[in-house]
This record gives sequence, C-alpha cells and structure tokens, in this order.
Amino acid sequence: MAKITKLDDIVSLCKRRGFIFQSSEIYGGLASCYDYGPLGVELKRNVRAAWWNSVVQMRDDVVGLDSSILMHPLVWKASGHADKFADVIVECKKCNTRSRVDHLTSGAEEHTEHVPVETAMTDAAALDKKVCPNCGQVGQFTEPMAFRLMFETQMGANVDDTMRLFLRPETAQGIFANFRNVLDSTRVRIPFGIAQIGKSFRNEVTTKAFIFRTREFEQAELEFFCEPGTDDEWYEHWRQQRFEWYLSLGIKKENLRFREHDLDELAHYAKACVDVEYRFPFGSGDWQELEGIANRTDFDLRQHQRGMRTLNSWFEKKGDLSQIELNSEADNYHKGPLSYFDDQTKKRYIPYVIEPSAGIDRSALAFLVDAYDEEEVRGETRNLLRFHHSLAPTKVAVFPLVKKDGMPEIAVKIYDDLKGHFTCFYDEKGAVGRRYRRQDEAGTPFCITVDGQTIEDSTVTVRQRDSMEQVRVATDQLKNYLRGELEL
Ligand code: ATP
Repeated sequence: MAKITKLDDIVSLCKRRGFIFQSSEIYGGLASCYDYGPLGVELKRNVRAAWWNSVVQMRDDVVGLDSSILMHPLVWKASGHADKFADVIVECKKCNTRSRVDHLTSGAEEHTEHVPVETAMTDAAALDKKVCPNCGQVGQFTEPMAFRLMFETQMGANVDDTMRLFLRPETAQGIFANFRNVLDSTRVRIPFGIAQIGKSFRNEVTTKAFIFRTREFEQAELEFFCEPGTDDEWYEHWRQQRFEWYLSLGIKKENLRFREHDLDELAHYAKACVDVEYRFPFGSGDWQELEGIANRTDFDLRQHQRGMRTLNSWFEKKGDLSQIELNSEADNYHKGPLSYFDDQTKKRYIPYVIEPSAGIDRSALAFLVDAYDEEEVRGETRNLLRFHHSLAPTKVAVFPLVKKDGMPEIAVKIYDDLKGHFTCFYDEKGAVGRRYRRQDEAGTPFCITVDGQTIEDSTVTVRQRDSMEQVRVATDQLKNYLRGELEL
C-alpha cells in the first residue's frame, strides 16, 4: 500500500505548495477538473517548452501550429469521432459503479485504451466472468451502453441558426485540416511534421488518479508525414526519440517502458502502435500509458478528402451528422486535394502519418512522481522534488540570512539582477533552514543566501537542492555560475 500513500503525498504537496488545486474548490469542486497554481503553471510551461524544443525547434523537418478548439462538425464525421468515439459502459448491479467494459478484468489482465466500440461490444459478451473494480462482484452487470465521449456546444445566437459543435477530443484533426495550408504557405517537403500543443476535452466515464485522466486536458501531438514505404523507418525513429525525451528530462529508466499493441488491439486503420508507459503509483497494473505512438497510414487525409466532398450533403441534411454518409464514391484518391506531389520524383501520393501523441498534464504528473523524494536529515524528514533543472518551476531562490545589517538590500539587488535571466523567488521570512526546506519541496535547484561574510568580501552561499552542499560564489560571478550549473 506504500505506493498509494505516495500518490496521496504528491496530491497533498501539490495543494500545499500551490502546484495543483481542485477546480471550483470553493463550490465543492468539479470532478476531474484541475487548476494549476503558481508553481504548477511554471512546471507545465516548462514541460511544454521542453516538448516544443525537442520536437519543433531542434529539428529542420517540423513546423508548429495552433488550431482552434472549435472546428467544422464534418471534421469529426470524417475522423470517425462523431460515429465511433464512444466508450461502452456497464453498471454493477450490486454497487452501481459504472465501468468501461474495456477496463474490466477477469482478474489478471488489464486493458487501458479506448477501444473501438465493436471490440468493446465483443468484450461485453464475456461479462459474466468480469469483476467489478469497486466491490469485487463477478458478472453482475447491466446491459452494455455506449457513452459518447465528445462534449457538445453550440454556435450562434438564434435557436434557428445555431450550429451544434463539439469541443475537440484531440488536437490532431486540426493538423490534418491544415495540411494543405501548411504545404502551400511554407517550404516544407515530405518528410516533414506539423506539431501542436493544446487543450482537448473528453467526457471520460472513469476518471482517476488526480491529473492522470481528466475531462479537460492538454495534448502535445505531432503528425509526421512521409512517403508510403518509408513509414516503418519513421515509426522506429519517433519511438526512439520520444522514449529518449522522457529519459533526457530525468525520468528513471526503470520506470519507463514500451508496450506494443497486439494486432487485435489496433484501430482498423493503424499499421502499428506502441505506448510509452510509466510506472505510476496507482492502479492495479501500475504501468500506465504516458504517450501513444502510432502509424496511422494515409487514413486521416483520405477521410478528410471524403469529408470535403460531403459538404453538399451536409447542407442538404441541415447539419444533422447522423443523417450524413461520407462521400466515398470511387475515385482516384491519390490525386485528391490533400495529396502531395513530389516535384523531384514526379510522384503524387497521400502521405502516411506517424503520430506521437503525448499528454502535457500526464507528463507533468510523471515528472512530479519521479522527482518526489523523502529523506532523513538530522532526524527530520526532508521532502523534495528532484526536478530536472529545465523543469524546475523556480530556478533560484534568494535570501538574506537575517532581516538586518544591510543583508535584505544586497539580497534584493541580487534578486533584481538575476530575475531577467532565471525564474527567481525572494524570501526573507522565518529561519533560513525552513526557507531551504520550502524550496526543496518546490524543487528549486539553487538557493542563494546573503550573510555576514557577504558584507566583508562580496561572496554569497549557494546551496544545491539535491546534495545540500554549499559553496561560496562572488556576487559578480553569480550569473555565470548559475548559467553553467543550470545549463541554460
Ligand atoms: P486512454 O486509454 O488513457 O484513455 P487513449 O489511448 O485514448 O488514452 P490517446 O487518444 O492516445 O489516449 O491520447 C494521447 C495522449 O493524450 C495519452 O497518452 C495521454 O497522455 C493524453 N490523454 C488522453 N486522454 C487523457 C485524459 N482524459 N486526461 C489526461 N490526459 C489524457
């Protein structure tokens, strides 16, 4: 049970230190929605920046995008979300707990993915052997029901002309819908990728474990377009890249692994899919998906070509998606508007897509869990977050040892000098030992203390979070020293 305590420890540290709060807490809270406080927002900014740096900035073959959350409803018809994006759920007759059929186990095995409705319905056939995760009752479930995962809203002021819209359940479709725009407005050539970070919304049936699965969350997705036939190589490339990314930001190797999807688990259009899993401190299996990397073939661009040809029918049926069939009349889709012409090889084709799809909140949770540590120091427990320097919300804290003898003035000056270069925090309240502990809990890698000696020789104490070692550094060398240590 120690592992569950660990998640509880993290939840309480996050609240106590202002990383993460329950949404609408003053009104009793809103289930599975969370707010990021002053330290949490910095952590998340750093996670986003690290992803963007590795996936966009450091590469010559990826460009960025920020598409809108609300999109034309036909996007979701073409992508398959409008018809198929549903979880099949059952309710336990004994305790009334609702569960996703694909999450139910007969004891040993566990599924964690949103599986296609048809697969879940087949799973449902074996319900008499499944166990309720809440009360342990075997095989006592209601008939399976489909539960729609997309949130709906409407656009327009008048009842007559309002349009039913969906909050996007993934950011990827905004990328496919802009494939042509990016091709026509930039000099990209295949192979290339389009990356985006943004909010997605899913009306999840089961939410669990803090920010692991929420109804509003942030995704970081890349659609990497390549020539059919080169897709296996690119799939391999992105698997390795994405795995390395987590390790490069300090995730311990023993807590990270790949889980290949079996062929019968794959969506019908996907050629291959692998999850990067992290050993989270909750759940029966511990290992949970952090990111999925899929070879989506040419499915999405082909589907949007069909969607584009369905516009007339959409107007005729007054936007009722359930009445509309995608126009899939036989045509040479390789020559359609979302095809690519390679002017060197003179070949035209619909590109294949490799999609690494990560969660910013879920990664932030993994970084928090992995960085969390407790150790005994002189009979006291020290809680700390051993964040990788680039993820630490505050890089440097500056303290005067005491609030007199000119120390605060010098400390404020140092703080003012450094804050243009690093995220800094100034604190003069309470005993210095307690101020160090507070920064340890916030994951701040360096604390600078101005003391009596500073007034004599213009040096300060710099204390390292992880080793608690202290060195003296000349005030005029501080910026260079910190730059070197932080590798910024
Ligand atoms: P799951 O099986 O966990 O529901 P999925 O396989 O449906 O997830 P994808 O559609 O592949 O998830 O989404 C890609 C990534 O987006 C996930 O690996 C995860 O990091 C993040 N993500 C998806 N759903 C949620 C959610 N409800 N809350 C937080 N992050 C999420």
